[in-house]
Amino acid sequence: MSEFNALVVSKDEESGETSAAVETLTLADLPEAEVTVAVEYTTVNYKDGLCLSSGGGLVRKYPHVPGIDFAGTVEASSDARYKAGDKVVLTGWRVGEAHWGGYAQKVRVKADWLVPLPAGLDARQAMAVGTAGLTAMLSVMALEDHGIKSGPVLVTGAAGGVGSVATAILANLGYDVAGVTGRPETESYLKSLGAKQIVAREELAETVKRPLEGETWGGCIDAVGGAMLARVLGQMEYGASVASVGLAGGAGLPATVIPFLLRGVNLLGIDSVMQPYENRVRAWERIAKDLPMDKLEAMVQSATLADLPQLGKDILNGQVKGRVVVDVNA
Ligand code: NDP
Repeated sequence: MSEFNALVVSKDEESGETSAAVETLTLADLPEAEVTVAVEYTTVNYKDGLCLSSGGGLVRKYPHVPGIDFAGTVEASSDARYKAGDKVVLTGWRVGEAHWGGYAQKVRVKADWLVPLPAGLDARQAMAVGTAGLTAMLSVMALEDHGIKSGPVLVTGAAGGVGSVATAILANLGYDVAGVTGRPETESYLKSLGAKQIVAREELAETVKRPLEGETWGGCIDAVGGAMLARVLGQMEYGASVASVGLAGGAGLPATVIPFLLRGVNLLGIDSVMQPYENRVRAWERIAKDLPMDKLEAMVQSATLADLPQLGKDILNGQVKGRVVVDVNA
C-alpha cells in the first residue's frame, strides 16, 4: 500500500491563514531520508499546538506534516543500524517542524534521529511518555546530577504533559512533590500521580517583591517560565536547582541575580530536541525503570488524526490534562 493518511497543514498565501486536514499521500510525497517508518502512535505536545496553528515561527515551508514525536516499526532502511521490523521511537531533531513529522501513517527520517524502542515499553506507552515525558526525565536526571535538597520538589504546570510525567517519576523515586496548577479540579488527579501537596497557581503568580523568600523547595521542574519562575528562584533552598523546561506562562524572566549570588541557586536549561543518541537511550531506559506504567495509563487520553486540529488549540490554551496518545491508524 503506497497510499497513506496524514494530517497536512496548508497555508493560504493570500491571507496567510493555515488550515489542517487529513489527506491521502503516497510514499513519493515523503522527504528523502534513510529510514521509512510505519507510524503507530504519535502525540500532542505544546510545540505541536504551535505547528498546527500559525506555526509559531517553527514551520518554514508548507504544505507541512506536524508531529514532533512518534513510535512505530521500520518498513525500509538504507542504514545498517535499522532493518524492516525494528521497533523505533523518535523525539526532537526538529522533526515535525523543519522536516515532516509523525502526524501520518508513514514517515521518512534520518537514522541518526531514531532510537530503538526501549525494552519494557510498547509503542503506545512510548508515546504516552513522548517528548514531554522524555523532557521530564531529562529534568529529573539534571536535578539528580546537581543534588536534590531536603525540601519538597516543586513541579510547575503540573497537570500538563511535562508536569504530569515529572510528578509521577519524582514521586516514584521517593521525593515529596508539590504540584503547581491553575486548575483546582485536577487536584485528585495530581495526588493520584503521587503529588503530596498542591500549590494554587495564584500563590506564585505575583511578581517578585522580595528577591529572597523562605527556603522552601529542594528542587524544581519548571514548565511555565515567566513571572512564576522568577518567584520560585527566590524560594529555593541554598544550593538547590531549577530545571527550566518551558515557557507556557511566558518567555520573559523578571528576576534578580540575588538567588544566584546569595543562595547559590542553579538554573539548568533542559533541551530535549538536540539530545545526543547516548543521552536519549539513557533517558528512555530510566523512563522504563522509574515511571510506573499504571500512573502513565492514568494520565493518558486517546485520539485520532482527525482530532488533532482541536487538540492543538486546547494545548495552547493550557486545557489538555496529562498526555494525549494519537493512534494514526484509527
Ligand atoms: P502542556 O500544555 O501540556 O502543559 C503546560 C501547563 O502549564 C498547562 O497544563 C498548565 O498547567 C500550565 N500553564 C499553561 N499556561 C499557563 C500560564 N499562562 N501560567 C501558568 N501556568 C500555565 O504543555 P507541555 O507540558 O507539553 O509543555 C510545557 C512547556 O514545556 C511548553 O512551553 C513546551 O514548549 C515546553 N517543552 C520544552 C521541551 C524542551 O525540550 N525544553 C520539551 C517539551 C516541552 P496547570 O493547568 O496545571 O496550571
